[in-house]
Amino acid sequence: MKNILIVGGGLAGLVTANYLADAGIPVSVIEKKAYPFHRVCGEYISNETIPFLRKLNLFPDEFTPPNITKFQLTSVNGKSARLNLDLGGFGISRYAFDNFLYEKAKAKGVTFFLNTEIETVQFQDDQFTVASSTRTWNADLVIGAFGKRSRLDVTMSRPYVKARSPYLAVKYHVRTDHPAELISLHNFKNGYCGISQIEDQKYTVCYLSHRDNLKEYGKIELMEQEVLYKNPYLKSIFKNSEFLYSRPEVINEISFATKSPIEDHVLMAGDSAGMITPLCGNGMALAIHAGKVVSELTIEFSRGKINREALENNYETIWNKLFASRLWIGRKVQFLFGAEWTSNLTVNLMRHSPSVANLIIRNTHGNPF
Ligand SMILES: Cc1cc2nc3c(=O)[nH]c(=O)nc-3n(C[C@H](O)[C@H](O)[C@H](O)COP(=O)(O)OP(=O)(O)OC[C@H]3O[C@@H](n4cnc5c(N)ncnc54)[C@H](O)[C@@H]3O)c2cc1C
Repeated sequence: MKNILIVGGGLAGLVTANYLADAGIPVSVIEKKAYPFHRVCGEYISNETIPFLRKLNLFPDEFTPPNITKFQLTSVNGKSARLNLDLGGFGISRYAFDNFLYEKAKAKGVTFFLNTEIETVQFQDDQFTVASSTRTWNADLVIGAFGKRSRLDVTMSRPYVKARSPYLAVKYHVRTDHPAELISLHNFKNGYCGISQIEDQKYTVCYLSHRDNLKEYGKIELMEQEVLYKNPYLKSIFKNSEFLYSRPEVINEISFATKSPIEDHVLMAGDSAGMITPLCGNGMALAIHAGKVVSELTIEFSRGKINREALENNYETIWNKLFASRLWIGRKVQFLFGAEWTSNLTVNLMRHSPSVANLIIRNTHGNPF
């Protein structure tokens, strides 16, 4: 048996830990934070993940997640179109879902090191040495599931971290009047905001904005009033909802740049291999799917059925086949959002050519797996 270490306990890391533990493979997860905790995320998960989650007994039935079947898009100036989603999704907060996956993995004997940030990963003589500021670990294989941007990206000298990224994102949980089966995506100048239901009849309101909006108005609240409120749908949500946290969750430096799925022999899964633009609502499905692929190959490697070279070659090939074009399309589609004329164009496309709109949605999503 090989010694497997996962750096990062988000969806990709937790799904991988569960899968490997089910196969009887000893695995440890090192996570910077401690569960449960909130994350900035729209919290809409594509139904393509359901067969796999059910197979591993990881579907969060106990939270009765709402079934989301319809999509609404509004333009910067408040024109609206609706569409039935081919595949649809379900809603659950990351606070609940990640903790649920963590508890499952812990019960299977996965070792967790929480509140521990990895600073360096080195590969020498076919072994990894992984270090935090206080201790080191040795491993035969490291799976990098450390998300969209990490200190490790800097120490591993990944090229994309050198460029500044212009996006920030904000998330709230609210109680509001919004159909349970509907996910809405509302455009505003230089950004877009999603709203959909999660567990306990709560809703997630989450938006991505260019940092110029914040630079211009200085404060999140003022930016929302001056920029987001120009879309009447957003104004109504912000004015008529009960906000459930005292402060929003905020992150910045969100990059959609191309990354590599393998870096210095570390197999990257989820956002650490490449992030799809949030408007696709598919990043979590990608992270879960990557967790499945990396687990299946790791099981073969761990049992001595394939060597490291085959492991890496197979992973890179499968990753590119499954995910690379979806990330590319996501980046291109993002140009249709955040400006008055392009968002009107997209709403008109949805109104008059729903089959074309559905085709675009289908191309940013995978098949059920
Ligand atoms: C605004 C916004 C809205 C979104 N909305 C949706 C949506 O509605 N639907 C959807 O499917 N996707 C959405 N996404 C994308 C989705 O959130 C991500 O694709 C998904 O979380 C990726 O999972 P992951 O496991 O790769 O990374 P994460 O879930 O980010 O997990 C990475 C983990 O690694 C840990 N970590 C980082 N560095 C270290 C380190 N050095 N040492 C130890 N631990 C470390 C972090 O603490 C974190 O827990 C959205 C993203 C954004 C920004």
